[in-house]
Amino acid sequence: MNKYWSETIKGITPYVPGEQPRAGRLVKLNTNENPYPPSPEVLEAMKAAVTDKLRLYPDPNCSRLREAASRLYGIPAEQIFAGNGSDEILAFCFKAFFDPGDTILFPDITYNFYEVYADLFGVSYRTVPLTENFEVSASEFSSDNDGIILANPNAPTGKTLSLEDLETLIQSNRQAVVIIDEAYIDFGGESSIGLIPKYDNLLVIRTFSKSRSLAGLRIGLAMGNRSLIEALIRVRDCINCFTVDWIAQAGAIASLEDTGTFSHYIGRITATRGRMTEYLRDADFHVIDSSTNFLMMSHPFLRAKALYEALREKNIFVRYFPKPRIDNYLRVTIGTDEEMDIFYDAILDIVKNTH
Ligand SMILES: *Cc1c(COP(=O)(O)O)cnc(C)c1O
Repeated sequence: MNKYWSETIKGITPYVPGEQPRAGRLVKLNTNENPYPPSPEVLEAMKAAVTDKLRLYPDPNCSRLREAASRLYGIPAEQIFAGNGSDEILAFCFKAFFDPGDTILFPDITYNFYEVYADLFGVSYRTVPLTENFEVSASEFSSDNDGIILANPNAPTGKTLSLEDLETLIQSNRQAVVIIDEAYIDFGGESSIGLIPKYDNLLVIRTFSKSRSLAGLRIGLAMGNRSLIEALIRVRDCINCFTVDWIAQAGAIASLEDTGTFSHYIGRITATRGRMTEYLRDADFHVIDSSTNFLMMSHPFLRAKALYEALREKNIFVRYFPKPRIDNYLRVTIGTDEEMDIFYDAILDIVKNTH
């Protein structure tokens, strides 16, 4: 059956994204999408980009987008790379900074894609266990490695590492690139962008998919020393020079410029997160303090898998990971207040009826 497949593809286990169910009425809290719409200015800018200019290839360097990011983050535009979602940028990183035979480090519980990319690109890895409380122990990331990838805040735990600990880790690994995936940083925690001028081995990755309500647009950024950015450009220009189309570039610029809508919805999500955390704890759930737009939670006696399945019956989709250490947790995206109330009522109902 597989006679035409490469050995790599025969052996690999691809990443499995959360379901994208099509049924009509459901509460979708399984892929950390933002429940609120993108800024109206983003939609306007994208409509305005639908012209006969689409005949032309887009700006491969995303110059205006990088300049807008530069104004917002205070990093020179030539130290910023824009890509088709941060997953694509992460994949480029594996080709840009690691060779087959290299060994990189990432936590035992983190974003699954790091493992998938390592396998795809033939890069070896060692996982560093999180502490019992799911904290990243910075000192465990010793110098004996060819690279480090950390999601900060981490996913799916929702916990952050302090800037101080991160700096220690970056400092003690000057021989290798340290990639900080800040997919959730807008919801909490301290960004490491400020460390970029000090450390030429630091690469910070951002996505527009979560905090900017643009998962469907596919935009990500990488920020770091100029030579790291140049390596990413080389990889991109060996695969596809035009990863970000005209419409996406226009929408992404408008998103960065509309700071009002952005902070308004971030405020709503963090308020809902606080309220839900409190409610669930009052109902005896164990809920990890979250710096993200999701909650990691478990129940004292009902198994997460059973809860996941019972919620699904009620058309409420959350994420369950059948993986060691976290297989008794549910990861629940923060939706609107209405969605979270439906979720809360349903899970309490399930608990009550299982007694
Ligand atoms: C969602 C997520 C991404 C992927 O973001 P895209 O820009 O949509 O590709 C990357 N890293 C982490 C930790 C995420 O949770």
